[in-house]
Amino acid sequence: MAEFSPKQFRKQFPLFSSTPLNSSMIYFDNAATTQKPLAVIDEIAYYYQTSNANVHRSSHQLSASATAKFEKARLVVKQFIGAKNDKEIVWTKGTTEAINIVAQCYARPLLTKHDEIVVSYAEHHANIVPWQQVAEHTGAKLNVLPLTSCGRIDLSSLDSVINSNTKLIAINMISNVTGKRNAIERIIAKAKAVGAKVLIDGAQAIAHERIDVHQLDCDFFAFSAHKVFGPTGAGVLYGKEQLLTAMPPYQFGGEMIKKVSFNGTSFADLPFKFETGTPNIAGVLGLAKALAFTKQYQASMAIYEQQLIDYTHSQLKTIPQIKFLFDEKPDIPIFSFVIEGEHNQDVAAYLDTRNIAIRAGHHCAMPLMEYLGQTGCLRVSLAPYNLISEVDSLIVALKGYLAAGAGHTSVQMNVSTEQAAPLNNPFDKIAEQFARAKGWDGRHREIMLLSKQLERLPKDERNSDFLVQGCESDVWLKANKDASGIWQFQADCDAKVIRGLLVIVLAIFNHQHSEKIATIDVESYFDELGLIQHLSPSRGNGLRAIVERIKRLVSEN
Ligand code: PMP
Repeated sequence: MAEFSPKQFRKQFPLFSSTPLNSSMIYFDNAATTQKPLAVIDEIAYYYQTSNANVHRSSHQLSASATAKFEKARLVVKQFIGAKNDKEIVWTKGTTEAINIVAQCYARPLLTKHDEIVVSYAEHHANIVPWQQVAEHTGAKLNVLPLTSCGRIDLSSLDSVINSNTKLIAINMISNVTGKRNAIERIIAKAKAVGAKVLIDGAQAIAHERIDVHQLDCDFFAFSAHKVFGPTGAGVLYGKEQLLTAMPPYQFGGEMIKKVSFNGTSFADLPFKFETGTPNIAGVLGLAKALAFTKQYQASMAIYEQQLIDYTHSQLKTIPQIKFLFDEKPDIPIFSFVIEGEHNQDVAAYLDTRNIAIRAGHHCAMPLMEYLGQTGCLRVSLAPYNLISEVDSLIVALKGYLAAGAGHTSVQMNVSTEQAAPLNNPFDKIAEQFARAKGWDGRHREIMLLSKQLERLPKDERNSDFLVQGCESDVWLKANKDASGIWQFQADCDAKVIRGLLVIVLAIFNHQHSEKIATIDVESYFDELGLIQHLSPSRGNGLRAIVERIKRLVSEN
């Protein structure tokens, strides 16, 4: 086996040399999505440049060639995951859609109020919410497998949670938060003993372990291309032929039919009956290319990944304030932790100013956070194009942040508040300060400075009455309208970075009449400060939700 060179491997990913910012970026959010190698990007571009046609329907050569490539991709997937035949490979948008197909087409028609579904506490929302829906519609019970302190499904609970009423067990092979591999072989064996079917959420496992669905003998297996160097919007549902055959279609329309007539319509055979409408042809070709690419490196990459796991774990452990959510090293390079006394979002925002991309929040695993008694955590997730030197940079940045009093010192370096000309309008004053700030680093410092100006809400008022929920942090809002119709808002958040941003929101909305508030275009204000990205709904920081809450309150009162 040729030795794996992470530097050579990294060179195959054009994003890392695409712009000066990207070249110096440390991308540690690989559990959310991986970057794409040139081979995959080229495959997609080549298809559009040379072979673009619809599949399965036209008689011309171009369509025949597109169809041949499309069906060859199915064979690549079949081989990659060890399926028995290509009929068992259904194209989907990703893991979420694959799980929904099983929930709606396998479980929902079959289950009754006497049946039970089993998941674990470490599931992604994609492997919880579809089952809650099935349970709601069928009356079936949803049971949850507990975890060990390492974050693995606790095998000692199998006998008490899984029983003869269990019809389906839906569990992750590796969780996107714990980074631990579950003993799915043991759980599949237990399922067989009680006659239950098993769906494996392979979203995180697919890039890290050789999968053999036939050997595992699982009933369903779901994964997304984008977690394994492939494109977004493409994924796979593997299902045993006999089960897929018995399941009704998921959606109805073109492609999935055999014959349509007002006297009766019949559906296509497997796997096409689950593939309604024009599929994501380029995505499927990109997916197959990504799997071929991964296969080429699979064995050597695994050795390097273990080095990344060992090194990152040992280095993070040198920071005493870091509290890992789970005991023991992870099985794939996903590290979930909190930093004592620090809000996750403050840490992530600070690292972002150092061009280090990590994730803060609940990671689409709110029940897991609840189970652990956390509101969220920081997640550092690596891929084989990450370098040991990048881990060192992360550790230096984290240590620097903590040594500086968690960002306080960097704030003190900036004296612009004192220098700002006294202006009457609070937003104008803020805009003056931001006009002097240089780059994202400077704007971050200004936000941290502003955060000190926010008067905190009393602790007993930071309650559910005033809560506006965000994905990465919770925000509280109190509103008051005086006799002359002037609004006064108070807001608070545990994250300093959000408190700074709230000062801006309050400067925009406070001391105004309802009529004025209704016309305020908050985007233009944030744009002026160079902070528009903080208002993005995907940011999850609760800021947009606060703005929407303010506007709604004002329109209703
Ligand atoms: N399950 C797990 C374990 C995941 O990590 C993810 C993605 N974060 C999903 C399911 C959902 O995948 P997708 O959004 O690609 O459908």
